[in-house]
Amino acid sequence: MTRRAKIVATLGPALDDREKLRAAVEAGIDVVRLNFSHGDHDTHARRLETVRELGQRLGRNVGCLADLQGPKIRLGMLPDPGIEIVTGGEVYLHPGVEELDAYESEGLPALPVVYEALADDVTPGSLMLIDDGSLRLVASRVEDGVVRARVVAGGLAKSRKGLNLPGVKVSAPCLTEKDIEDLEFANQLGADWVALSFVRTPDDIMDVRERIKALNGESPVIAKLERPEAIENLTDIIDVTDAVMVARGDLGVEIGPERVPAIQKEIIAEANAESRPVITATEMLDSMINSPRPTRAEASDVANAIFDGTDAVMLSGETAAGSYPVEAVRTMARIVEVAERSPHLIHPSPPPHSELSVSRVVAQSAVQVARDVQATAIVAFSMTGWSVQLVSKMRPEMPLVGLTPSARAHGRTALMWGTEAALVPMKDRAQELLQAAEKVLLDGNWAATGDTVVMVTGPPGSLGGTSRIWVHRVGDEIIH
Ligand code: ATP
Ligand code: MG
Ligand code: MG
Repeated sequence: MTRRAKIVATLGPALDDREKLRAAVEAGIDVVRLNFSHGDHDTHARRLETVRELGQRLGRNVGCLADLQGPKIRLGMLPDPGIEIVTGGEVYLHPGVEELDAYESEGLPALPVVYEALADDVTPGSLMLIDDGSLRLVASRVEDGVVRARVVAGGLAKSRKGLNLPGVKVSAPCLTEKDIEDLEFANQLGADWVALSFVRTPDDIMDVRERIKALNGESPVIAKLERPEAIENLTDIIDVTDAVMVARGDLGVEIGPERVPAIQKEIIAEANAESRPVITATEMLDSMINSPRPTRAEASDVANAIFDGTDAVMLSGETAAGSYPVEAVRTMARIVEVAERSPHLIHPSPPPHSELSVSRVVAQSAVQVARDVQATAIVAFSMTGWSVQLVSKMRPEMPLVGLTPSARAHGRTALMWGTEAALVPMKDRAQELLQAAEKVLLDGNWAATGDTVVMVTGPPGSLGGTSRIWVHRVGDEIIH
């Protein structure tokens, strides 16, 4: 049984053991997420190096997604295991500091907040949510740059957890100084995708794109949709971005968890209509941070994201900091596989032909041809990965093999639904292209001699878009 939707797994201390990481890659990680909210550059580089080495060894194309933190307000460092704040009690928040000398003042708990402007952005009555909303505070007094707050829902406040101010227009820009440094580093690492947090407008995407270009980079950009403004500007953002993530953690805190399910469907449908990869993220198997088994609700959540038509599902704390990271990947892979065999799977329907570019018409038609001739596999040649992405969105039932001479495009395909990929040298002639494809198909057991396959290409040796469909019987003489 083969799985088509992809699995993104966040790296962290829980997968630092090499054997565990190997097991997790074998269990189905397609793309690793380096979350620049946590950990230093050396640690990220070391983790990625191990992943790449394991991928080589296991013959798996594992992609890399660099996730920029964005203007997220976080708690600073707290003593382990955290600081207990009690419902009905009060706390002090100290803005702009990473650590405190004492985590108590006037008999009340004191928390550092790594955001200078907190005391300017909140007023008495402002709601403050910590750790994706599990702790709730209401500001009662702002004095001498320190915020005093009432605890509406208490619990354990832990190091570096996020703090949201729902409804408050946070003054910080989308790319912080840290993000700009992290972007440069991600570029050095050769990240296959760069994700931008708290996107508000299409300009946020254009800005990061220009910066990537200035670094001579070529990473495509993923817009993390987690601000109410991003939902209002959804169509325009999808227009300019390469991919999107339904970042349900902060989204749920900002707009209320009850609105997340419908917005998830809306985002996935729009991304599918525009052929952009979409990742559904956050809390998918959250209870597996502490338990070897998921709840039924979590199993349903993963399956429903598949039924909605997502390209990829993501693990966050489950693989970064949980006790059962390998089990989480294995469980997710199994839920996806079973969901994909179910009759409830709805293949997204592409927009009408009048709205399609030539490349998309060709991709759509190629999948139809492949169905009609009962092709064993469909092959897409691509310089950038875009043609492969177009075919992927048409959700072919048969294996989709992306062939590219570009290592960067090869890495990108790891995120694309239903796509396997191989590197082939650049070919100038159609026959050579076909021969290279045959070899990959036979070597990878995608097809056998006598099988019919469908290939999609542009003009050989050029960068021009997707324009040709070939039907070929493997082993037949290749005549130009
Ligand atoms: P984001 O808003 O970007 O998703 P996050 O803090 O929610 O950031 P996740 O990657 O979603 O981070 O992971 C969930 C939790 O797992 C984090 O809050 C943190 O406690 C833990 N975690 C994640 N990555 C790491 C890491 N590299 N080191 C330590 N803990 C981590
Ligand atoms: Mg998160
Ligand atoms: Mg986030």
